[in-house]
Amino acid sequence: MPYDQLSAHTGAWTRRPTREVGLVFVETTAKGRRRPYHKQKLALILANQRQFALEQAARGVAIDYVMADTDYDVALAGPLARHGTLECQRPAERELRQTLAPLVAAGRIDEHPHEGWLTTRAHFEASHNGPPYRMDAFYRHVRRATGILMDGAKPAGGKWSFDAENRKAWKGTPPAPEPPTFVADDVTEEVGQLVRDRFADHPGRLDLAHLPATDADAAQLWQWARQSCLPQFGPYEDAMSVRSRGLFHTRIAPLLNLQRVLPLAVVRDVEALPIPLQSREGFIRQILGWREFVRHVHEATDGCRTGIGSEAIAGTTPLPAAYWGTVSGLTCLDRVVADVWEEGWSHHITRLMVLANLASLLEISPRELTDWFWVAFIDAFDWVVEPNVLGMGTYALGQMMTTKPYISGAAYIDRMSDYCGHCAFDPKTTCPVTPLYWAYLARHREALRDNIRVAMPLRSLDKRADARRQADARVFAVVSEALAEGRPVQPADVVRALAD
Ligand SMILES: Cc1cc2nc3c(=O)[nH]c(=O)nc-3n(C[C@H](O)[C@H](O)[C@H](O)COP(=O)(O)OP(=O)(O)OC[C@H]3O[C@@H](n4cnc5c(N)ncnc54)[C@H](O)[C@@H]3O)c2cc1C
Ligand code: SF4
Repeated sequence: MPYDQLSAHTGAWTRRPTREVGLVFVETTAKGRRRPYHKQKLALILANQRQFALEQAARGVAIDYVMADTDYDVALAGPLARHGTLECQRPAERELRQTLAPLVAAGRIDEHPHEGWLTTRAHFEASHNGPPYRMDAFYRHVRRATGILMDGAKPAGGKWSFDAENRKAWKGTPPAPEPPTFVADDVTEEVGQLVRDRFADHPGRLDLAHLPATDADAAQLWQWARQSCLPQFGPYEDAMSVRSRGLFHTRIAPLLNLQRVLPLAVVRDVEALPIPLQSREGFIRQILGWREFVRHVHEATDGCRTGIGSEAIAGTTPLPAAYWGTVSGLTCLDRVVADVWEEGWSHHITRLMVLANLASLLEISPRELTDWFWVAFIDAFDWVVEPNVLGMGTYALGQMMTTKPYISGAAYIDRMSDYCGHCAFDPKTTCPVTPLYWAYLARHREALRDNIRVAMPLRSLDKRADARRQADARVFAVVSEALAEGRPVQPADVVRALAD
């Protein structure tokens, strides 16, 4: 039973009489030590795995729970000797598939299809002829194939996407919900202690009160999401605020990715909610569209290693200390980074338009950024974090799964958030993010030359006076140098770079 398949509703074993079933779990420090994972992420995975094993034991399922310091294939030697051939649903993670591949090849593990996805490889292939891949085409195909949010052959409400209506900034109303809290029982407390003792050198804050660990906790979180988040989900989907880290986002991804909550149940529940269609469609597109799409792209491209598209842009600058919590002086970045180390999570737009946007503008190595996301976010696993960071957050895969780099200057951040009001920089005059944006376009003008989706900004770039373009490049140098040295960017330095 892989750590991310913690459901009693998927897999051949769930259709057999309980007394005939035995589950083998592996808990190994080798996995936890592979990267410096956020403490909350280690606790989330270990607590859910232990609680799930106990829940199944209580139903009468036999449990073989192996504690190890070695990788999975080695740790499974004991169970293989005790039970003979084991069965397993195909792991979602490429890393785990690779570890188990020799055992699968040798017939020691009998691999079955993963039943936790909403779509199959056939859906993906029927919507595409190979790279480039486009989420819209896949999503429309799957809506038609499944009948989800359909009125006969037409999309409900007459449109496939209501994205254009989902771009409101949030000014404090309606009030954003507080995330639910959970009571950590002895099992979860013990995991917390283990993480404190054995992973003391790992980053991030451990917060058991906000850690859903049991089946009941998962149900409670989803109930909160449906009641308190979903009604306002659509309109404020892209908003960011210092006053609320999550706004109306559900924080369900960590549990979806462990299968504590199943995507089919989530989609069915949301389809039936008496809330505006723009919120229902907006949310369902994320689960049925984006989530399924990225995992197909990951698998079809050997984990984003093949099929890289034209125009790919990949910086080589090491990830600055600012991403590990050293103050950068840029409030948007500092605020979101602080949120991430506090909770192991931040919402989609903060990931895309702050963390990844600034990394792109600063020519940070996409691989280093991906590895950072992987350790820092409690919902990060290779199948989801690699396409999202390499393909969407940065433009390291070029046209493979997106049509243009998702980059912006300060105007977007100012419009969609209240960060700038708390910043030493002025988004309209001294903020370095806008010159960084122009400097990025100037550096990559040639690569993006034929991209019609960036034609407008490139025309504006061409009209930008030489003196301003030189100032853009100087700001890039000043900001890059400060961050490389782990110093905050000083407004006076930026003002000088703009004026020189
Ligand atoms: C740079 C970057 C890195 C990301 N890394 C991850 C990651 O490591 N793990 C992860 O689960 N998501 C990742 N995402 C996608 C998305 O940001 C998160 O799924 C979402 O923020 C999780 O919070 P939530 O459950 O409150 O989301 P909500 O907004 O409340 O719900 C939307 C749900 O849709 C799904 N979803 C939406 N967009 C995506 C997407 N692009 N890919 C996959 N699922 C999606 C998630 O399951 C999410 O729970 C990343 C996005 C970007 C831009
Ligand atoms: S002014 Fe610039 S650096 Fe400051 S928060 Fe706004 S966009 Fe970020």
